[in-house]
Amino acid sequence: MKLETTNIDKSLLKEKNKIYHNIDKIREDFPILKQKVRGKTLVYLDNAATTQKPKIVIDAISNYYLTLNSNIHRGVHFLSEKATFEYEKARTKVKEFINALSASEIVFTRGATESINLAAFSYGLTYLKDGDEIIISTLEHHANIVPWQEVCRRTGAKLKVIPISNNGEILLEKYYELLNNKVKIVAVTQVSNALGVKTPIDEIIKKAKEIGAITLVDGSQAIPHLKIDVQSLGCDFYVFSGHKVYGPTGIGVLYGKADLLEKMPPYQTGGDMIRSVTFEKTIYNDIPMKFEAGTPNIEGAIALQKAIEYVKNLNIEEISEYEDALLRYCEEKLSDIPDLIIYGRTPCKAAVVSFDIKDIHPHDIGTILDSEGVAIRAGHHCTQPLMQRLGVSATARASFSFYNTFEEIDILYQALLKTIKLMK
Ligand code: PMP
Repeated sequence: MKLETTNIDKSLLKEKNKIYHNIDKIREDFPILKQKVRGKTLVYLDNAATTQKPKIVIDAISNYYLTLNSNIHRGVHFLSEKATFEYEKARTKVKEFINALSASEIVFTRGATESINLAAFSYGLTYLKDGDEIIISTLEHHANIVPWQEVCRRTGAKLKVIPISNNGEILLEKYYELLNNKVKIVAVTQVSNALGVKTPIDEIIKKAKEIGAITLVDGSQAIPHLKIDVQSLGCDFYVFSGHKVYGPTGIGVLYGKADLLEKMPPYQTGGDMIRSVTFEKTIYNDIPMKFEAGTPNIEGAIALQKAIEYVKNLNIEEISEYEDALLRYCEEKLSDIPDLIIYGRTPCKAAVVSFDIKDIHPHDIGTILDSEGVAIRAGHHCTQPLMQRLGVSATARASFSFYNTFEEIDILYQALLKTIKLMK
């Protein structure tokens, strides 16, 4: 890749952005990126849906089955002990990655969706009652809407929604108006998956705490782009999926403050989450095991650890800086295209450009781009209420990772011009 051929704002990347200078080497770590699709070199711009995996993550999965496979926690034999050690090491790695106080605050789940469901059904159904209130925002993914609706339906609590500006920014004044002593939970995303807009999450948490509400941060789209420190955020719960941060699917994390997890009932029951069972009475295991019933995704946790190591090695600040340059370059380029509207064009964003083109359905944009080898997402992005607020049924979404290049954005741009030529 010859980055010099493009007219980028290099000031954004400074002299020393390692990713910018090592992009060819980094791309070598992601074998899938070399593929041709539909006869064209793959340009993968669907990273908000899922990220590609570096070879060390792929190898960790096959190595697990080649050398380590056995069930954890209960075994006395060599393989079981070793697999248990690696699984628990992965938990410690996650703890360090998000700066939790203790590894016991890290619950492995199937993904962000299961993490939110766990918090909602275990905490929400136990501690909420008729007349209580839950606050979410207009930006939320369905995964951070529907579980709370269900808690409301079952408890009589009410769901309140923070409105947004036309640009997708949280209206903090409106949030303040929603706060009162009936509010028991505030569950908000850190970065919008549909628009890339960052929310003022520190302020949202601070104000929620002032009224004694429990806070949950949906970090699914923040975790691959931003440095996360749950202690300085001060949130009660933080959730994310492994596959959004270069790990495998089927593994995710629920961070919860220890005292909160301690007082929550189990979400699922069965093996591994118990200390002792008689037909009369079961005593539950300590946290986090109390929330990990059954055989977990052992290889998923181990491979997630490798993904975290990879990201840490690249340095998340470098990643942010490079991705931000890609984002601004893309926004600038796409602004040249007549009748193209970018949604959520705010200064405070992470790695997503959501757009549509007048008189062309986003699905048609996605299909024509695909024929050029460019993978983007078109649809409602599991944010139907947000789409309604924006007055659209769908958008086309290009989302970036540190392995994307400025040349790929040029290819996207050319493919969009071709789309317009074909469709208009
Ligand atoms: N929240 C946000 C903001 C997301 O982007 C996603 C995934 N698109 C989720 C929650 C749900 O994640 P998963 O499907 O991995 O459980």
